Amino acid sequence: MNLIFFGPPGGGKGTQARLLQQRRGMVQISTGDILRDAVEAATELGVRARSYMDRGELVPDAVMVGIVEERLRLTDDAAGFILDGFPRTLAQAEALEELLGRLRRRIHRAVDFQVSAETLVRRLGGRRVCQAAGHIYHVEFTPPRRPGVCDLDGSPLYQREDDRPETIRRRMEVYRAQTEPVLEFYRTRGVYAALDAEGTVEEVYARLEAVLGL
Ligand code: AMP
Repeated sequence: MNLIFFGPPGGGKGTQARLLQQRRGMVQISTGDILRDAVEAATELGVRARSYMDRGELVPDAVMVGIVEERLRLTDDAAGFILDGFPRTLAQAEALEELLGRLRRRIHRAVDFQVSAETLVRRLGGRRVCQAAGHIYHVEFTPPRRPGVCDLDGSPLYQREDDRPETIRRRMEVYRAQTEPVLEFYRTRGVYAALDAEGTVEEVYARLEAVLGL
């Protein structure tokens, strides 16, 4: 099954995509993670993307479409994939449609993670990410066993640059203005599914499996 996850920053897309990958074998393709790896490695892409990311703005469509095309070509069709953080603009959605047509694949469900603004601010403020592999924690809701250290690989946890209050506000505006219209695109194609993304990680996961009919 091929999926797209939509939702505001802090909506829980990355956390749930990782769980589906672990438990159901679908391949998570997170454009945010790909960009953060490129920034960390200081590649040409990373240097270019960083200025947009630090301001909470979107990286140009042409760059993003190229990244996703490369990943989709490398992904084994059998397991299915989860696009986490892509498409974020109508132009990206249209480019994805064209690309999937060429690859003879299709999207089965576009899941809309719905969360209150209050929850988002609480989740983002406490979010911590592991340096080695991007595993996600929350200081209050899902703390690691040892503070500041990833349970899975022992690497240090850090706070994302763009999880600061001013940048969070800008990312939310960008989501409303640029990404919400993309939901309509998938509604008209009959694959849209709303998901109540309030509550604990496991509560949301149970609802997600139900929405997907798993
Ligand atoms: P995320 O981890 O999904 O919140 O993404 C972090 C940042 O990476 C965003 O605020 C954007 O600057 C950039 N980014 C990730 N995915 C995309 C995309 N599909 N289009 C444009 N920019 C993106």
